[in-house]
Amino acid sequence: AKAKGKGTFQYFEAHMNVEAQRRIELETKLRRALENGEFVLCYQPKADVGLSGITGAEALVRWRHPADGMIAPDRFIPVAEETGLIYPLGNWILRTAFLQAKAWAARFPGFRLAINLSARQLLADEFIADLADILRETGVSPQSIELEITESLVMHDIDTATRRLRSITAQGIRIAMDDFGTGYSSLSYLQKLPIDILKIDRSFIQEYTGPQDVERAALIKAIIAMGRSLNMRVVAEGVETAQQLELLSRHACDEIQGYLLSPAISAEQLECYCADFPQR
Ligand code: C2E
Ligand code: CA
Ligand code: CA
Ligand code: CA
Repeated sequence: AKAKGKGTFQYFEAHMNVEAQRRIELETKLRRALENGEFVLCYQPKADVGLSGITGAEALVRWRHPADGMIAPDRFIPVAEETGLIYPLGNWILRTAFLQAKAWAARFPGFRLAINLSARQLLADEFIADLADILRETGVSPQSIELEITESLVMHDIDTATRRLRSITAQGIRIAMDDFGTGYSSLSYLQKLPIDILKIDRSFIQEYTGPQDVERAALIKAIIAMGRSLNMRVVAEGVETAQQLELLSRHACDEIQGYLLSPAISAEQLECYCADFPQR
């Protein structure tokens, strides 16, 4: 945009200023929201593919804005990542989720809570020490915790990421590869990293509308088979229909998550949901 002459350049600069201004304002608001305790975690349950029980949940952050109501993470996580605010926010998420996981593991045997990690968290110098502190302070069993990472996160700095992930799994925490199939898809890395769980991205699941989708079914089947052959548990996210569940069940996917079961709900609602499951 810079090369196109003076008019374009001025427009470009003005546009950049508005954008930069907006970002600074949002950063200030996010910082204040963290201080004021405006973030909340919601929990989306996961079940085994035969729907015989709830295996755990994924913690998903929301901003409960005093004037604007609930704000989805896609609207603030990217800015929190750019500004570094994801680090204190991420530690708050870990602490809150670990305390919740500890309570639920005591009440629902085998229950595991999955928590999303951003690149800025995993690659921060203090991360491993902070994680150990939060584990100790909360007293949660590491076996009740899964940390979800993405391919792009790992590719940022493959060597550091690999070392950090090894040190995390050595403590008994499981690692899940989130949004699998949407990133760089370097299958050779997948084999080298200490990944325990493969989460098939919801776009693959949602494209499948029934048995006539032969090619889409084949793709899902192949991803499940690959995960199994690498000794990973395979989780499908974004499962919305009985036909999608049927396909996943037929190809022996391990767990499902999605609106077919439940959207993300409050901690209190999740407790009722687990206690009543299966309702049918
Ligand atoms: P994600 O990790 O892929 O999370 C799954 C998203 O899919 C969630 O959106 C969830 O509500 C939505 N979803 C679940 N089931 C279905 C379904 O059946 N159909 C459809 N269409 N969508 C479904 P959400 O909560 O808005 O989160 C969006 C993204 O924000 C997450 O994607 C994750 O990348 C990020 N995020 C959320 N919470 C955190 C967090 O605590 N830390 C970090 N670093 N990122 C987070
Ligand atoms: Ca996730
Ligand atoms: Ca995902
Ligand atoms: Ca995502």
